[in-house]
Amino acid sequence: MTNGHCLCGGVRFRIDAELAPIQLCHCAQCRRAQGSAFAANIPVPAAAFHLLAGEELLTAYASSPGKQRVFCSRCGSPVYSRRDAHPDVLRVRAGLLDEPLATRPGLHIHVASQAGWWTIADALPRHDASAP
Ligand SMILES: [Zn+2]
Ligand SMILES: [Zn+2]
Repeated sequence: MTNGHCLCGGVRFRIDAELAPIQLCHCAQCRRAQGSAFAANIPVPAAAFHLLAGEELLTAYASSPGKQRVFCSRCGSPVYSRRDAHPDVLRVRAGLLDEPLATRPGLHIHVASQAGWWTIADALPRHDASAP
């Protein structure tokens, strides 16, 4: 069981599942949505994601057809993304989760779009596009 919350604390949730490896996504959308070099995302079964507070704060932005990026409308924290094609999976932003985390980064994806100012310095698998 893992707990998480947004920056302002208005959105609180619990994940009742073993955490999958963290996917470091370097796509241009994630970079802008996080304001950073990449997003740190954990695929979580939707059934294992329990919103404890802040449903009224969650706002969805459709960044591309069939994909929503859900964030806290009070503090702006990205919370998760979801795809209409895979409604059973939420990609939760790892930075919201309470430490210590029982998972670690597993791979880099969309490295073909990575920020020119960032150097990947680890030996994790790298994929030009999405995860295979
Ligand atoms: Zn918030
Ligand atoms: Zn991305």
